[in-house]
Amino acid sequence: MNVYERLGIAPIVNAKGTATRLSGGTASPAVRAAMAEAMGLCVDIVDLQAAASAHIAGVTGAEAGLVTGGAAAGLLLGTAACIARLDPARMARLPDLDGPTPEAVMARSQRNQYDHAIRAAGVRIVEVGLPDRYAGAGCRDAEAWEFEAAITERTVLLHWVADAMSRPPLDQVVRVAHAHGLPVLVDAAAQLPPQTNLRRFVEAGADLVAFSGGKALGGPQASGILCGRKDLVASAALQMLDMDYPEGFFRPPAGFVDMAVLKGLPPHGIGRTAKVGKEQIVGLLTALDAFVAEGDEARFARWLQPLAAILDDLAPLFAGGMDLRKEGAVPLLALYPAGGPAAARALYAHLVDDRPVIHTDPEELDRGCVLLNPIGLVEGDAERIVARLDEISRSRS
Ligand SMILES: *Cc1c(COP(=O)(O)O)cnc(C)c1O
Repeated sequence: MNVYERLGIAPIVNAKGTATRLSGGTASPAVRAAMAEAMGLCVDIVDLQAAASAHIAGVTGAEAGLVTGGAAAGLLLGTAACIARLDPARMARLPDLDGPTPEAVMARSQRNQYDHAIRAAGVRIVEVGLPDRYAGAGCRDAEAWEFEAAITERTVLLHWVADAMSRPPLDQVVRVAHAHGLPVLVDAAAQLPPQTNLRRFVEAGADLVAFSGGKALGGPQASGILCGRKDLVASAALQMLDMDYPEGFFRPPAGFVDMAVLKGLPPHGIGRTAKVGKEQIVGLLTALDAFVAEGDEARFARWLQPLAAILDDLAPLFAGGMDLRKEGAVPLLALYPAGGPAAARALYAHLVDDRPVIHTDPEELDRGCVLLNPIGLVEGDAERIVARLDEISRSRS
């Protein structure tokens, strides 16, 4: 029995990808071993985050970095940093400040359920632009001048969600923000691979960038990276780290948090609820190194393997109704059961409702397509998927 079975829970076949609701992906033996080793010893957590900062800086090209409890935690911490900067009194007050509510400006078309993390830090989101190209009403979306027009003395940051479809481009948002002395916070949670994205947003001028560690990076499920400007990362760190120190004994390495510029030590901050453990920090850094070392090409080939095996074995079943997609950053196998969207939904339900439970990606069910994503598959899953699809098709014919 494995650890899940002892709790009365059966592991699933995860062909959906690294969804949080399905417990993310799996970590390599190296990551798991590093986490287990980390859990057997204690360290000063500030020293560990300082070492992580230097490590993340080296990989991303940013001035500094922090291991967070996920990209959403990174958005909360990044926003808190943009509001409070290095003022311990403001840190202590969040999410309520005296005076007007601080504001974050973002494109209306980029609003999404993760921006709750930004609002949670105490800002009001100001939406700009009309998402015409999504509404079917036209080809336009938010433009740089609209960001500029929305900036007031209450604005603390401009928020940009990274995606191939994102408009206006990041460099235009950066230009507007920096002309007003404001930082840009980028949500790049799911933008890895390609690994060039580890540096791309920082190079484009983003002041803070949040990545997920539990997605394709292969780190612990509840981990992430917040990287960017040193002063803002220091503020984020101060608002996440435990502050229960005897007077004078909070001694962060000077390159990480410069205590000389602080008026005093804040109490536990708004990010204390999003703390990360030593095992997440060590696991994330181990995964980050392995991600870079493997390279996009080798990773793509590794992901392709189980999909190609499924494709081969299923060819007789889904004649003409399968498509191995190789154009994205992650390969996908699309199944088109005869019968259109209704048949696709029925197949999705069959796979979820029987044993072993097989989760696929439902994103294109309306187009009659069940998608298989390889990132969360483990040894033997390709065979399990083929066996179930084979069984389902027999029971129908
Ligand atoms: C997954 C995701 C997040 C949240 O990432 P976590 O690491 O799970 O906190 C935030 N934003 C976007 C766009 C995402 O896809």
